[in-house]
Amino acid sequence: MFSKGVNGKSQLESDEMKNRRRPTLKNAIRLVGYLLTAVVLSGCGRGQSFTFVQMCDTQLGFGGYKDDVARFEQAVTQINAMKPDFVVICGDLVNKFNDDSVAEFNRIKGGFAMPCYCAPGNHDLGNSPSHAGMKRYRTLVGKDYYSFEHKGYTFVITNTQFWKGYLKGESEKHDSWFKETLKAASKKGSPLFVVGHYPLFLKTADEEEGYYNLPPAKRKELLRLFEVHGVVAMLAGHTHKTIINRHKDIQLVTGETTSVNFDKHPFGFRIWRVTESRSVQHEFVPLQK
Ligand SMILES: [Zn+2]
Repeated sequence: MFSKGVNGKSQLESDEMKNRRRPTLKNAIRLVGYLLTAVVLSGCGRGQSFTFVQMCDTQLGFGGYKDDVARFEQAVTQINAMKPDFVVICGDLVNKFNDDSVAEFNRIKGGFAMPCYCAPGNHDLGNSPSHAGMKRYRTLVGKDYYSFEHKGYTFVITNTQFWKGYLKGESEKHDSWFKETLKAASKKGSPLFVVGHYPLFLKTADEEEGYYNLPPAKRKELLRLFEVHGVVAMLAGHTHKTIINRHKDIQLVTGETTSVNFDKHPFGFRIWRVTESRSVQHEFVPLQK
């Protein structure tokens, strides 16, 4: 039982009324604490919603050079109108990697009104990665693997050619960078998106290796790392077919192209939406004719 205070009100009610009338030092400190927390949270971007676009296999020259160019340009126009925060392209930027095709690719990519992050594919580096191929890509396009943070999330752009094949000195470096990047992000509580060219698998996590997936041993190692470090999704290309898989809570999405879709899916790209409550959804957007 609460003791009765003035005017028949309980002691608790009476104290509350006092507190409402004049803020105590304790309350003021608490308020400053709340405000500081809010500033810190908004500063590191957690809890903010955003969108980004996944493009795959622009592969200029695969579906007819002029048509591929026109479709990539159309995608840039539509994406600019949609105003996502940024775009990722999951490799095979061009069909035949040379000065002219890459210049054309870079010209069209330059039309994006937002940042565009590219991963290399087998058509950009060759089916068996070589030091000469790496040098050419890094000179004409830029970095082949790197990470960036966006609103509390970490995006890891990988060179899956080093997982599909092996290049002495490079594959080891890429592997340790990848592990360290995942580890650092999870330590900070930053959920991860992995972007690359080859999907881990097409149908099941234990399927055999073929032209379109990664070797089972590497796949197993990657899935374990994904689980341990909080990877939300891996975005890939290469198959020219829409493949949406899930491994536990991890979304594995191989998207549509603007060059050739073997499954006769319309040309287009995928818009990803990350909400304040950290739900992650994606949706196909067809190219307008
Ligand atoms: Zn490919």
